[in-house]
Amino acid sequence: GASFAELYAELCVIGRGSFGEVLKVRRRSDSRTLVCKVLSYGQMSEKEKQLVVSEVNILRELKHRHVVQYFDRVLDKRAAKIYIIMEYCENGDMGRQIKRMRRDRSHFEETRVWKFLAQLLLAFEACHNRKDIILHRDIKPCNIFLDRDMNIKVGDFGLAKELGAESQFAYTNVGTPYYMSPELINEKRYNEKSDIWALGCLIYEMCALRPPFEAANVVSLGKRISAGRFSRIPMRYSDELQAVVQSMLTLSPTRRPSVSQLMSLPRVGSYVVRAR
Ligand code: ADP
Ligand code: MG
Repeated sequence: GASFAELYAELCVIGRGSFGEVLKVRRRSDSRTLVCKVLSYGQMSEKEKQLVVSEVNILRELKHRHVVQYFDRVLDKRAAKIYIIMEYCENGDMGRQIKRMRRDRSHFEETRVWKFLAQLLLAFEACHNRKDIILHRDIKPCNIFLDRDMNIKVGDFGLAKELGAESQFAYTNVGTPYYMSPELINEKRYNEKSDIWALGCLIYEMCALRPPFEAANVVSLGKRISAGRFSRIPMRYSDELQAVVQSMLTLSPTRRPSVSQLMSLPRVGSYVVRAR
């Protein structure tokens, strides 16, 4: 097949991921601007390589309006690199947006927060309500992307997390796990309700511009989370929004709402736009 350079022109480096560089590229065939994740697999074990392959296969299957679209992968055996080509999200990631809001002492309008929630739920629905359920496992502001029109595109599906603790890469990018759910602290399995917890933390952070639970280290963070106390989102936001966030931050995973239950809330439903 054609090489990466034959198919794509590198425009610039937009970031550094846990696996390698993230590039902005132009597809030569139609001049479309795309993003390329460069993964160096020279140091990976066979098992890790296999995980990357299977993960990319999941992503190829997952076509959804609110999920970052994966387009192609190009293998360069000589350089031991795999190039993963995907949709370019003009407005970058949510982490950057939240930072900007905090810096400008600004905030997201409540209607926008409801719209974000509806779009996130649509993406989750596509992942949770299928035979081979796909869990994100790493919902956080910097993994949620925004297109030109500020529509949500969930990115980094499992890619990083599936590599697991045994991967050398798992250690290069460990930030404070602010969105860690109470069941994970109790060493229970990650399940779809853990994604809901993380979603609750995310919506909370969009409103408060800081996570619901904060601490200087993982141990005290775990204690805070397990205690389940957090301040209300800022008063400019309605009791209705506060109640939804609070329900997603229910300590008991069984009592926490599912994607379908959240989607059936009238206020959410009014923002849900389904593909025709
Ligand atoms: P990691 O491997 O650490 O999760 P990411 O790929 O999520 O790294 O992000 C690295 C940088 O590239 C971030 O600044 C992120 O905003 C940017 N980025 C990643 N994917 C896209 C995309 N599809 N569109 C725009 N920017 C992106
Ligand atoms: Mg990421």
